[in-house]
Order: sequence, then C-alpha cells, then structure tokens
Amino acid sequence: MEAKEMIKINQLNKSFGDLHVLKNIDMTVYESDVVCLIGSSGSGKSTLLRCLNFLERKDSGSITIGGKEVDPKNDNLNNIREKVGMVFQHFNLFPHKTVLENIIEAPVMVKGIDKKEAISKAKQLLEKVGLEDKADVYPNKLSGGQKQRVAIARALAMEPDIMLFDEPTSALDPELVGEVLTTMKELAQEGMTMVVVTHEMGFAREVADWIVYMHDGKIIERGNPDQFFNHPKQERTQEFLKTTM
Ligand code: ADP
Ligand code: MG
Repeated sequence: MEAKEMIKINQLNKSFGDLHVLKNIDMTVYESDVVCLIGSSGSGKSTLLRCLNFLERKDSGSITIGGKEVDPKNDNLNNIREKVGMVFQHFNLFPHKTVLENIIEAPVMVKGIDKKEAISKAKQLLEKVGLEDKADVYPNKLSGGQKQRVAIARALAMEPDIMLFDEPTSALDPELVGEVLTTMKELAQEGMTMVVVTHEMGFAREVADWIVYMHDGKIIERGNPDQFFNHPKQERTQEFLKTTM
C-alpha cells in the first residue's frame, strides 16, 4: 500500500515586498512522517510553515493538504486549519483562562463540540502531556515547558491530521527543553504527521524520518538523518553542520 500524501507543495514562491523569501519550494510529506526543517535564521522556515497553515498567502505554486489542493480565495481556511495544528515558539495561551479552558476553547467555539465531551477529551490530553494535575491553574503558574505542553494539548484537542511546530523549544530554559521534546517524540511514535522547525539536532537525528535543510529561501538538501548528518552532499550543508555540531 502506498503511503498517503498529507502535504504536497509544488513550486511555492512567497515574497514580502522585494524580499523573495521562498523560492520554488517542492516538498511532499507522507502520513506519519516526521520532517525536521532546519536552517539558519532568516532562511524562510517560519514563512514556509505559515504558508502551510495559510497564515501567509503564497504568491505562486500549489499546496495540497490531505489530497486536496487548497484555494485560499474560495476554500474555508478554518476547516483546513482544523486539520493542521500549529505550535509556536511562544505559547500564546490565553492568560485569563485556566489550562482546561484554554484547551476546550477552540473545540467548543470553533468546532461546536459539546462542552462535557470537550472537557473529558481535554483531561485525556492533559494526562497524555503529563499535566493532569494542572487543569484548573492559570498559565502564569506554569513553567515554560509546562506551558508549551499545554499548547501542544490545545492543538491536539482539534484532532488535527498534521502538526506543525515552529521552534517549540527555542524560548525555553535549557532544563525544560527535554520534557517538550519527549512529548513530541511520543506524538511522533503514535504516528502523527509532523513538520518541525528546530535547532535541536539530537531530536532531528533521533526522531525525524526526513531532514530538510533550507538556506536563503531554497531547499538545499534533504535526506534521512543518516544521509543528512553523516554524508551531506552539498557544501552549504556541510558548512551549516560544522556550525551546529
Ligand atoms: P526563519 O524562520 O528561517 O528564521 P522567516 O521565515 O521568519 O525565517 O523569515 C525569512 C525572511 O523573511 C527574513 O528575512 C524575514 O525578515 C522576512 N520576513 C518574515 N516575515 C515577514 C513579514 N511579515 N514581512 C516582511 N518580511 C518578513
Ligand atoms: Mg523562524
């Protein structure tokens, strides 16, 4: 059986004014794949993720999600965003809502799920991310790592088919990085399709199926972790790896 294509990007271009940020990007992500997107700051990683979630509008090219090409002008983007969850560097939790209220907000308000059902699902998700005892606390009582795990639970509450992570551990104190990576690794092991922008090369090596290296708006090289880290083909990649390891 052929693996299902979850994301297919074809010749994607995006500029901000005169700045050409994404240059003819092609990328396919199959079901249950974990793709780690790496590259130096300013190479276009966040813009690519934001295009995948339609937070940014592409200039040209096509994006197919779950087998259907998305037409941002005519499709209901909220329906697509339900399928594609996103976790940001900064957690963006609602400060005036408890952890539980943060998690049930979108399922109840956007998806129209029964509140009792949403609460029961939220509690399961909190257990999954190891925070079952934090349901009733406010975000300011949580560590950065705990906040990020709540943000992951909140994204999962919409039952997405794909999860995008944009440097989810970059804002954390070093001792809190591991707990978030562990949660992400468990999600990967359950078969979630994930695209992860990260500087955590250990995570990429261990968890990714594919590494995609971007530089200056282009995909320079891609490969499985062994090919990519141990036998990089492009000089640019070799230079990049020297600076990170
Ligand atoms: P990365 O995530 O790899 O660091 P980004 O995708 O954030 O890179 O940014 C790529 C380039 O696009 C950078 O030069 C950045 O300054 C620019 N850029 C990103 N977002 C905007 C925006 N909304 N308006 C103008 N320029 C932007
Ligand atoms: Mg970025």
